Amino acid sequence: MKPLARRTDGLEQSSIRAITLMLRDMDGINLGQGICDMPTPDPIKQGAHAAIDADKSIYSYYGGIQPLREGILEKARSFNRIPAQSLDNVMVTVGSTGAFVATLFTLLNEGDEVIVFEPFYGYHVNLLRVMGAGIRTITMQGPDWNVDFKAVENAITDRTRAIIVNTPGNPNGKVWSRQELMTLLDLLKKHDLYAITDEIYEYMLYGGREHVSLASLPGAMERTITISGFSKTYNMTGWRLGYAVGPEHILDKMGLLADLIYICAPTPLQHGVAEAFSMPESYFTEMAQAYAEKRDVLCRTLEEIGFNVPWPQGSYYVLADFAPLQNRLSGFSDDEEAQLTLVQKAGIGTVAGRSFFTHPEDGATRLRFCFAKEMDVLEEACRRLRSAFGSTG
Ligand code: GLN
Repeated sequence: MKPLARRTDGLEQSSIRAITLMLRDMDGINLGQGICDMPTPDPIKQGAHAAIDADKSIYSYYGGIQPLREGILEKARSFNRIPAQSLDNVMVTVGSTGAFVATLFTLLNEGDEVIVFEPFYGYHVNLLRVMGAGIRTITMQGPDWNVDFKAVENAITDRTRAIIVNTPGNPNGKVWSRQELMTLLDLLKKHDLYAITDEIYEYMLYGGREHVSLASLPGAMERTITISGFSKTYNMTGWRLGYAVGPEHILDKMGLLADLIYICAPTPLQHGVAEAFSMPESYFTEMAQAYAEKRDVLCRTLEEIGFNVPWPQGSYYVLADFAPLQNRLSGFSDDEEAQLTLVQKAGIGTVAGRSFFTHPEDGATRLRFCFAKEMDVLEEACRRLRSAFGSTG
């Protein structure tokens, strides 16, 4: 038979999902995939029930139902400080991944280059590969994950189209400062590039960090697609509802593409999530506070065991380095073995470090842990880790 399309070559199950499948049949705790399995807020659930009961069952406009777009527009203006003017600057998508795919289809021709910061979210890079884009990675070094802007400028070529910024970042929790974003914006303007920002963890910030949206800076919105979604903030990763904010002429095309790919996001669920905008301010502060406590619990445990832990500035992941354990413990020769060792000896799922790097050896002594869990589950996971791997102190 004829071979499949070349774009499928090299595609394999992501390590992020594989661990979920591995743990499914055992009494394991999944600190791998960022599934966020805490309850979805009641008003959102009730809104969806009511929409289903009221037979709001038909396609929506491809850009989403009006009340939801109004809510997103208002949030983009007040929380993100993005100077979006009208509903034409906003579209609802199937997950933030849906927004990302529509953005890539809209901005990139095959062979165009995109700059990505490493460690990266593998879905960004794999989708770029599927699109046939050239990928230039700029490595950030922990624990601060500072950006080498000279390296960024050196990576720009005639073929460069866009730069991807993920803040707060997955998997390292880097939060881009206003100063860094301003420096990046200078480069975007100088070289006439687009920015694609993934801001899905925007409410999870620690140690007094602020979330700055690139598109809020003067002159940035016209070249920036800002992507976010409801999954993480409202514990509803399976509902698949995200959105994009950007210039009308770009969103027009993104909408047409999203229409071709999936027509629209599920209508009754859009009605449900429109209720998200009625959540009081305290919802967000309490969530951030709860995540800060979970970050402390997990990071302290990992440090006690002997991991080298760059504490995340935001998001709900820790990319920890187990190199210091290698002398003391067996089963940690590389990231994939360590991932298996944690499953077998402690029943804990993590993601192998190589998922976040172009060259697997760069992630060879790292594992990503997710702390988006109920506190009692996270504490139980920490107990299991301590009893399986002891502590150095
Ligand atoms: N964003 C989440 C993570 O990084 C889940 C993504 C996924 O399942 N692909 O774990």
